[in-house]
Amino acid sequence: MTFDYDLFVIGGGSGGVRAARIAAGEYGARVGLAEEYRMGGTCVIRGCVPKKLMVFASSYRGAVEDARAYGWEVTAGNFDWTAFRAKLDTELDRLEAAYRAGLNGAKVTIHDCRATLEDAHTVRLTDGGRVTAKHVLIATGGRPFLPPIAAEAGAMTSNDIFLMERLPRSVLIVGGGFIACEFACILNGMGVAVTQFYRGEQILRGFDGEARGHIAEHMREAGVNLHLGTEVIEMTRVEGGTRVKSTDGREAVYEAVVYATGRVPNTEGLGLEAAGVTLGRGGKVIVDDWSQTVVPSIYAVGDVTDRINLTPVAIREGHAFADTVFGARPTRPDHALVPSAVFTQPEFGTVGMTEEAARDERPIEVYATAFRPMQSAFAGRPDRVMMKLIVCAETRKVLGCHIVAPGAGEMIQLAAIAIRMGATKEDFDRTVAVHPVMAEELVTMRKPVRKA
Ligand code: NDP
Repeated sequence: MTFDYDLFVIGGGSGGVRAARIAAGEYGARVGLAEEYRMGGTCVIRGCVPKKLMVFASSYRGAVEDARAYGWEVTAGNFDWTAFRAKLDTELDRLEAAYRAGLNGAKVTIHDCRATLEDAHTVRLTDGGRVTAKHVLIATGGRPFLPPIAAEAGAMTSNDIFLMERLPRSVLIVGGGFIACEFACILNGMGVAVTQFYRGEQILRGFDGEARGHIAEHMREAGVNLHLGTEVIEMTRVEGGTRVKSTDGREAVYEAVVYATGRVPNTEGLGLEAAGVTLGRGGKVIVDDWSQTVVPSIYAVGDVTDRINLTPVAIREGHAFADTVFGARPTRPDHALVPSAVFTQPEFGTVGMTEEAARDERPIEVYATAFRPMQSAFAGRPDRVMMKLIVCAETRKVLGCHIVAPGAGEMIQLAAIAIRMGATKEDFDRTVAVHPVMAEELVTMRKPVRKA
């Protein structure tokens, strides 16, 4: 049987674009790709990239205060969201164009429309076409999940934040994960009065306990009105905002309410079940170690598979798929020791096991330090940095590293290389410190603070 394409990719985000470019550009496959919204996907259009630019924008208020403490005669004005938003839109247009240019350069045919599966090899396009492909890659990502109470009240999601016409004076953020905490810090930095409700005992569930506590404390010190063990009971639209009643007996009006209560895979209405693909909890596509579904011609990568929902992981999965299927280089994406950063203020970088997970598994030693870094201490700020290594008591290997500090995302990338290589605590100790930098503490922690 002859097909229109060797590969048809549904979804123009990080995973889909990488797979398409490698399959076509490196291995000469005939590739088509459909994207119904904007090229670049969540990361570029409404995730990592605009979020990080907002992190930068929001950090200048503190930077101006620090500058004054260092002797500069400067005063902080107000943040102009409209001016920032215009620049942000221009930057996202530029990045989207770069993604398109990359695909065009690799000779991938772009279809600017929605695509759904008809069967294992046939894709129907909303522009009226229908194409066949030897392989189909599902790379449709995820979308924010809104509980019914929030959907009924018209609450915002992270998608809406980037499109706001103006900054609200006050906001309630519901959730305690990556997105809720990052936006709480960003909006607080931009001068919005931020209240955050999290239903559990401590924000950032799943991360190292000490780091979670450290971040929560600093968020509160910076002005985020964080309420733990708190849920919304009732929301009513009123003049100027939304009146919210919560389980802690509070009742208040917020100009905006943002729900960051998790994300779900984008598999609805794609025709996957009809094509024979198995879906799991929450609608995720079930794949094996090679990203292949139970239908041999259909693969899936990225957030739609709900493995580790991070851009660099989706890129790895897309690349490994292309190497395996079109490059005759069987490659399994490696999901071990994936480092990540949470762009709260202060920033959090983490790789490997938490203290809680490691001590359940084996005897460990914990090396940790918390200190006031030179730059902010001079400026009179109370900020403290936290660094922590989890070490296997038997092999001496560093099992996990957790850093809460300015630039922690940059530091953890480098620590992750050593840890992936199997570095022991003694390897860290043998490495000469760089002075005076915060990260030197990683190689100067002599005695464990506890053994477990
Ligand atoms: P998370 O799953 O991390 O967090 C969801 C939060 O919402 C949790 O605190 C959860 O509570 C809470 N929640 C869930 N349902 C409800 C409900 N019905 N009512 C009240 N609270 C609720 O999702 P995010 O949306 O924050 O992030 C999604 C993913 O995106 C992340 O897992 C991450 O992979 C990725 N991401 C990565 C970033 C980065 O690398 N810097 C940045 C942003 C996102 P509970 O803990 O009790 O379940």
